[in-house]
Amino acid sequence: MLYDLELKSVGKTYPDGTVAVSDFDLKVEKGEFVAFLGPSGCGKSTTLRMIAGFEEITNGDIFIMGQNISKTPPEKRPTSMIFQNYALFPHMSVRQNIAFGLDIKGTPKAEKDRKIDRILDMFNLTEFADRKADKLSGGQRQRIALARGLVVEPEILLLDEPLGALDANLRRIIQNELKLLQRDLGITFVFVTHAQSEALGLSDRVVVMSNGVVEQISAPKELYTRPATPFVAGFIGSNTLIEGKPSQGRDQELQQIETRYGPISGVGAADANLAVIPAEAFTLGLRNTPGEIRLEGTVTAKQVVGSIGYFRVKLSDGYEIEVEAHAGAIEAQNYALGSPVTLGVDPMSVTLIHH
Ligand code: ADP
Repeated sequence: MLYDLELKSVGKTYPDGTVAVSDFDLKVEKGEFVAFLGPSGCGKSTTLRMIAGFEEITNGDIFIMGQNISKTPPEKRPTSMIFQNYALFPHMSVRQNIAFGLDIKGTPKAEKDRKIDRILDMFNLTEFADRKADKLSGGQRQRIALARGLVVEPEILLLDEPLGALDANLRRIIQNELKLLQRDLGITFVFVTHAQSEALGLSDRVVVMSNGVVEQISAPKELYTRPATPFVAGFIGSNTLIEGKPSQGRDQELQQIETRYGPISGVGAADANLAVIPAEAFTLGLRNTPGEIRLEGTVTAKQVVGSIGYFRVKLSDGYEIEVEAHAGAIEAQNYALGSPVTLGVDPMSVTLIHH
């Protein structure tokens, strides 16, 4: 299979010895929307810049449509990059800004004008074509940056926190537009963000990174429900982590570990030693379903918002956990601070991993 983008063991050590990225492996199909997600400094931008060619690779190789482009200069790569601050030329017109990439490529004037007119129309920017870029709103500047990246018809669009400068409302609107645009164009998008909701909401697959290492590559739903490492379990969603030792369960389908609260079954590896329980997997009271996990505790904090009850529950040994009782708001009203609570968990919603 020919991948649109392939990273093979890609690594980057900066001249000062900082290892920013190590052994990054990734295969991206044509038209996929992939997000790099992780805390600041984990190596997301460095990886994106290596794909764009703005940063030299120190280990491994990068392929685009089967071609090794590791040594190809940026302007010769079929990629376009969109930066967080948009990097527009403030005193140039919208049209001149969009023309920039085509000028670098030496596109003939007639073809250039045709392409710019088309993209201006697509982004509803035609009426602003002659206005200076610094005389436009944040949302319009964002569109110019996207238009400038797309006008050169890249194989892959690289986006480095492109929505970071927008306020929350505009961010949501542009997120939506971005997703529709990507679907329409069928161009491969690689998107860098430190915002979990953005990565999970926009992309087909998410690459979670920490300290220059890929922790997990999964579709958003799987990432959320089946974290593969303790880092991902701590970073995505709101999970309770309970350590234990592998033990023999009765169920053929599920694995089991022995913890300080008794046996906990779940989906995962036979020799796992850490149970990951999502906050929303807990029920207030038992449902008496087969294999149900039972935890006893005391309510230490409670907040009911709409149909969700948010609890903090202190377990027998003082360990406090987060519990989200969905559609349990009415039931949640019955639990006063300090009152005992029995929590039930369906083992199918528990993931057992290694730490
Ligand atoms: P992210 O995009 O995830 O915030 P970066 O890729 O920007 O992370 O940075 C990864 C690591 O590399 C960080 O430790 C950062 O300090 C370091 N780094 C980034 N650029 C340079 C550079 N030019 N020289 C040395 N270290 C750098």
